Amino acid sequence: MKRRRARALNLINAQLRRAYRRMMKVVDPKQSFSYHSGGIPRTYRCSRCGAYGCKLWRDYQTFLCNQALQCARCAAAEQGKDISTIDATGKRLDDDGSYRTDQIGWCVPAVPTEENNTFWGYTSVPPAGCDWWRKLPTHPVQHV
Ligand SMILES: [Zn+2]
Repeated sequence: MKRRRARALNLINAQLRRAYRRMMKVVDPKQSFSYHSGGIPRTYRCSRCGAYGCKLWRDYQTFLCNQALQCARCAAAEQGKDISTIDATGKRLDDDGSYRTDQIGWCVPAVPTEENNTFWGYTSVPPAGCDWWRKLPTHPVQHV
């Protein structure tokens, strides 16, 4: 009886691990999209609160396998940054209020490639990718 219960628990754990990995996937080449269509891959979702359909940020210079995506609110909470001045383009006044930036602490705009297999480096996002990101709502509009 004990052994059967242990086996059942192992099975459940394995299923949970698989579900977790699926959930945490931040890109998926099977879900390619185009910037001009304005579509949003289903993988483009806040890793913390699950927000979908809005701008997301990613950790600067983190390997893809460790990458987490965060909405403005979650990134601000994690980084301890004030985003009360953030606008529709995703820019906010920096801490000393001297310039506008689209970074939230160490988090930079997360722009997936159209192949949806990785994210553009902060300084190498193509103009169409920048436009796509800027047009997304800055704040989560829907929690799934
Ligand atoms: Zn979030």
